[in-house]
Amino acid sequence: MSITNIGHYIHGNIVTGQSGRTQDVFNPAQGSVSSQVDLASAAEVAQAVAAAQAAFPAWSAMPPIRRARHMFRFLALLNEHKDALARAITLEHGKVFTDARGEVERGIDIVEFACGIPQLLKGDYTEQVSTDIDNWTMRQPLGVVAGVTPFNFPVMVPMWMFPVAIAAGNTFVLKPSPTDPTPSLMMADLMKQAGFPDGVFNVVQGDKVAVDALLEHPDVKAISFVGSTPIANYIYEVGARHGKRVQALGGAKNHMLVMPDADLDKAADALMGAAFGSAGERCMAISVATLVGDVGERLVPMLTKRLETLKVKNGLELDAEMGPIVTAAAHQRIEGYIASGVAEGAQLLVDGRGLKVEGHEQGFFMGGSLFDHVTAEMKIYKEEIFGPVLSCMRVKDFAEGLNLINAHEFGNGVSIFTQDGHTAREFSRHVQVGMVGVNVPIPVPMAWHGFGGWKKSLFGDMHAYGEEGVRFYTKQKSVMQRWPESIAKGAEFTMPVAK
Ligand code: NAD
Repeated sequence: MSITNIGHYIHGNIVTGQSGRTQDVFNPAQGSVSSQVDLASAAEVAQAVAAAQAAFPAWSAMPPIRRARHMFRFLALLNEHKDALARAITLEHGKVFTDARGEVERGIDIVEFACGIPQLLKGDYTEQVSTDIDNWTMRQPLGVVAGVTPFNFPVMVPMWMFPVAIAAGNTFVLKPSPTDPTPSLMMADLMKQAGFPDGVFNVVQGDKVAVDALLEHPDVKAISFVGSTPIANYIYEVGARHGKRVQALGGAKNHMLVMPDADLDKAADALMGAAFGSAGERCMAISVATLVGDVGERLVPMLTKRLETLKVKNGLELDAEMGPIVTAAAHQRIEGYIASGVAEGAQLLVDGRGLKVEGHEQGFFMGGSLFDHVTAEMKIYKEEIFGPVLSCMRVKDFAEGLNLINAHEFGNGVSIFTQDGHTAREFSRHVQVGMVGVNVPIPVPMAWHGFGGWKKSLFGDMHAYGEEGVRFYTKQKSVMQRWPESIAKGAEFTMPVAK
């Protein structure tokens, strides 16, 4: 089998990397190398930024409605190529095809939102703030902006960023994860077919070298980052030091609080999907079931039983429920967490380690794992595992559950299962988490609401996409006007006040 090379996309062309550095890309279901991705040097990043900078004047001057029309064409092409994108995700990430298609569809939602940019960029206007003076505000694009994205949503997370940024009049440089780089070039190709001028959207493949080059480049005005918390923190600090606007979304430890009055069948199904869907490699995966009162006695056996029938297979098979882990290193890390949970005294009810899938013996597979009697001091509770491991914890009542969740350093997503409206309302009001689900296990906000966690799950002031996204990618300008006929004679030396 010949190994292909995955390059960059700069000024409308796919270009082969010149740095001499590459990284293997794997098919995780086979456990074999499928291609190699170029890792950009600072000089190659500078070429992409220069292309974006050159495209900015004409692109930002284009009326928003015409920029939106480009976005509409991109939208149509995405819908046409949905399955091809989903297949490319499955081949490099491993998640099951049906889930990958869902990822593409959630990305498409953002493109639909970005198509409404003329309405979103409408400014405010006040007539007659003082006699014969009007004041208005407008939002203008920043210039070249960059996105640095994680492996776990190679289509959706970049689309949280570039459609909104570009529709708002910016030009964009995407630095996707080198683990699953192919979809970035497929999106670039669709942007080209949609007629976006060369340089408006660029892709540099790479690692820390490329990210640091973007962070330090004076022409990059803003960075959107999604990934793990230590890197998010780093991007926030270094980006701010270089005078950039930064939004850096980090890791998570999402709880589901299950109240004794909840429909436990529905809660068990929800936990299965939210903990083991995409092999737990979602920043909104539920990794902790916080079970109130006697819920543990009733629910844990239901989960154990359901895990017996979890279909772990090559993600391209349409009935697969869970695919392989993304890389051998991630597989090893997750196994290490399972061993640590056992060593610290948690009860391992289902052990997913050692699973082999017939015909895919070299693949990075493991089954779902279930721990019970996990406590707050354990490493498997404190840290993000980012794998198919669900920890059950017992709490005596609602207040203890809420306090536990609020004490955790992450605050990305959370969910409560209950049939009581007041309990749900109290929970939503007092929980210190950015995205809350009530009888909804994975409350990823829709395109026009914006996505973001609290505490160590987000560094920065604004959430991704939605109106917060439009604000992030634009800066406000206020204009106050008076026409010469009305200018008073002689200089005024006192603070102007409304007259
Ligand atoms: P990661 O932090 O390893 O990588 C993210 C990006 O940063 C990649 O593009 C990577 O190339 C780059 N990077 C890695 N190390 C770097 C370094 N030292 N300096 C500069 N750049 C570096 O994350 P990942 O493993 O790709 O993704 C999984 C993580 O992302 C999980 O922690 C998950 O919770 C998080 N995530 C968060 C959200 C959210 O919205 N909060 C969404 C998806 C994923």
